[in-house]
Amino acid sequence: MWDGNALIYIEYKVHAYNRNGLCAVGFMDDHYPVPSAFPLLNQMSVASDSPVHSSSSDDLAAAELDSASDASSDSSLPSEEEDDTEASNHEEVEIEEASSSKGECEHPGSFGNMCFVCGQKLEETGVSFRYIHKEMRLNQDEISRLRDSDMGFLQRQRKLYLVLDLDHTLLNSTILRDLKPQEEYSNSHTHSLQDVSGGSLFKMEFMHMMTKLRPFVHSFLKEASEMFVMYIYTMGDRPYARQMLLDPKGEYFGDRIISRDDGTVRHQKSLDVVLGQESAVLILDDTENAWPNHKDNLIVIERYHFFASSCRQFDHKYKSLSELKSDESEPDGALATVLKVLKQAHALFFENVDEDISDKDVRLMLKQVRKEILKGCKVVFSRVFPTKAKPEDHPLWKMTEDLGATCATEVDASVTHVVAMEMGTEKARWAVSEREEVCGA
Ligand SMILES: [Zn+2]
Repeated sequence: MWDGNALIYIEYKVHAYNRNGLCAVGFMDDHYPVPSAFPLLNQMSVASDSPVHSSSSDDLAAAELDSASDASSDSSLPSEEEDDTEASNHEEVEIEEASSSKGECEHPGSFGNMCFVCGQKLEETGVSFRYIHKEMRLNQDEISRLRDSDMGFLQRQRKLYLVLDLDHTLLNSTILRDLKPQEEYSNSHTHSLQDVSGGSLFKMEFMHMMTKLRPFVHSFLKEASEMFVMYIYTMGDRPYARQMLLDPKGEYFGDRIISRDDGTVRHQKSLDVVLGQESAVLILDDTENAWPNHKDNLIVIERYHFFASSCRQFDHKYKSLSELKSDESEPDGALATVLKVLKQAHALFFENVDEDISDKDVRLMLKQVRKEILKGCKVVFSRVFPTKAKPEDHPLWKMTEDLGATCATEVDASVTHVVAMEMGTEKARWAVSEREEVCGA
């Protein structure tokens, strides 16, 4: 498999079983099905729809099916013939006939309710990984085993996982009929869908939709992909069409596109369906509430509202960027800022090259990076909290402390920032007269 740097050979054990014309196949290497087996699994689904005999390497999967359907075969496939266009793509495949006589099968997972190791028919159990393959389920023990063994892969690649939200994080979309008259000009500024590279504004007539990519997103994805194995996780409709705008060659996300139908809990996002240890995953999303159980993994990004309809949807009173014919800054915008945080967290995680990473936790690294943001600041809050409540219990107070600042209730010479609901309060006036920074809450 070509990893961008070196040729590596990956050996797969393939468990295959055939019953009544239905075929279950499992690829069992150390860290299937992430990420190397993704394309193979998809070849499988194509091949099982139309098993065509051909010498092309793309039909490797079809060849496996043929072998698998011969119950008596227990042979190794010859190595794939070298393909001129993909000279780097060597995958040695070893077919192993599954047999329950080797001991009790633990049924690690299933395709179409059939265990992919022993072929036994199973009740619908475990977690569905339909974004990998619509029929695929894995049981909890198997998921844990995969996550554990995956740490070795991450260590070798010096990579972590990054789960990215799509809408309002990497891009913003609007329904065409919601465009305001002041935004109509954008119709003549859209980029061709035939070659999306270099463009940032796209009209997708077939979805009655216009999409604007966030400034800096191409550099962000390119640089982040060198540090992270990336997923998209979105609650929006038809994520694939929009993902195509960001990643036309599929080099960043491959098949790691999770949509709301793939999640395990309604209206929530969860790392259940991400095949990495939670201690190795960072999340970037504009909606904190979407991740009730993974707040420590989460970097909340400022919402990207390019279109007026997006502002309306969130009761955002200001004019949209498109109405103002403006946009976020490329070098200093939200994505550039987040990239710096990601780089710091990644660098801390892999600080000591030879150290075993299995006991490390990127959530602690993120906490450490956050602490740097307001380090040395002393913040006073003025009429931000209800008078009866203890100010130190307020989320804003806690967040400020998490960012490394000290919080106080009274102003003094050491205070660097005053956060005020209105400019008329005594503390805010003090701040203005002392030329300190005043922030609206
Ligand atoms: Zn089994």
